[in-house]
Amino acid sequence: MNTAVDPIQQSRSLAPLREFLATTTRIVGQDLSEPQRVEAVRSALARLIADDAWLPDAAAQPHPEHYQQYLLHCDPLERFSVVSFVWGPGQRTPVHDHMVWGLIGMLRGAETGQSFKRDPNGQLVPDGPPATLSPGDIEMVSPSTGDIHQVSNAYDDRTSISIHVYGGNIGAIARHVFDLESGAIKPFVSGYSSPHVPNLWDMSHIVRASLQQEAA
Ligand code: FE
Repeated sequence: MNTAVDPIQQSRSLAPLREFLATTTRIVGQDLSEPQRVEAVRSALARLIADDAWLPDAAAQPHPEHYQQYLLHCDPLERFSVVSFVWGPGQRTPVHDHMVWGLIGMLRGAETGQSFKRDPNGQLVPDGPPATLSPGDIEMVSPSTGDIHQVSNAYDDRTSISIHVYGGNIGAIARHVFDLESGAIKPFVSGYSSPHVPNLWDMSHIVRASLQQEAA
């Protein structure tokens, strides 16, 4: 991992993320229904993932054994969080839920998601065919519309990365994994893969440039 990151360079390249976070902070402060809120965040997320150059390398590193969830930002009031989800080749999640709304925006590579629903006997069964997300595609999960799925890297030979936005501090929310064979439901909390978040806020280059202009 590159530890010699220039904070000004990083802050500069993180402009699209900063803009997304400002927009989403405004959205979650509005009195909106969940569908309205999710739709508004979806538009902002579509702009964010239109280009992938902003994602810091530190939040793009796969792990040889399991997928990584790098926190990019959590709202101070925990109304939303943004995570870089990094898949090593062939990696997959268990069948799981979220307990809050979430949007999954594909940034690099591709991932395959299978949604599940309960049949009349209460058994979890696939809800339609698996869906493959390509860069720019966005999928939604929510307890109100379908919250249980399993996701995997669509590739066996390369890393894939998606940017997730959740309606809470997702790493600290009690959730569930589901064993389809036995029907067992196990509680879990995902946490985050790194104690660090990107430094979004070194704006000194902008102030320095204007100071230099004034002095000229
Ligand atoms: Fe998920």
